[in-house]
Amino acid sequence: MTAQTLRGDVAVLVPAAGAGVRLGPGGPKALRELGGEPLLVHAVRRLCAAASIAQVVVAAPADSLDAVRALLEPFAPVFVLAGGASRQLSVAAALAAADPALDIVLVHDAARALAPPALIERVAAAVRAGSPAVIPVLPVIDTIKQVDDAGWVLGTVDRAALRAVQTPQGFRRDVLLAAHAAAVDEHTDDAGLAEKIGIPVQTVEGDEAALKITRPADLRLAEIFLRLP
Ligand code: C5P
Repeated sequence: MTAQTLRGDVAVLVPAAGAGVRLGPGGPKALRELGGEPLLVHAVRRLCAAASIAQVVVAAPADSLDAVRALLEPFAPVFVLAGGASRQLSVAAALAAADPALDIVLVHDAARALAPPALIERVAAAVRAGSPAVIPVLPVIDTIKQVDDAGWVLGTVDRAALRAVQTPQGFRRDVLLAAHAAAVDEHTDDAGLAEKIGIPVQTVEGDEAALKITRPADLRLAEIFLRLP
């Protein structure tokens, strides 16, 4: 089954089936509230405001499908299905349900609830312009060290060459299908799977508002971004 069509030429897959354990006690992370609304609602509203998006496929917790469908009804047409046991499996399930006529596929974590439409469009535009895989990135501000199991420092990584990676990540549909078909172990993002099969990945500028809401302090920071004009 495929979702109904909004407009534009891009399908976006939204893994939203995580438990959100690091956020503390409460329901699934995508349903935790920020400024009085669930994170997933914030994420889907911004996706639907991006002109390129033709279809939104949400992988939700299996026991919350009805609640998620009711929440997203105002944004119809959005297709909601059950996620898997890992982020990667949730993305794979959503990819299998996406409209095969849409040649550009974005993957966007519900946890990055405040990713603005301009960022979504920037990623989609880079794929449309010919890049097989595109990720939004920001410079790394901390000094990063590699440590051993006992906690002793092995070395300092050159920060200038590092980037922190966000979502949405964008792909040619055939590339994302091939990357998932070849997956043998778990990756924390989809570009990692594409890299494994030798696909060149282009970076575009990320956005601080697209922070990943993981720990309680991230929610406080997201509230500040939400209040910015
Ligand atoms: O676990 P992590 O915070 O890295 O999750 C990133 C995104 O993947 C979140 O939006 C989460 O809801 C989603 N996820 C999922 N299915 C899982 C685990 C995580 O859709 N089984």
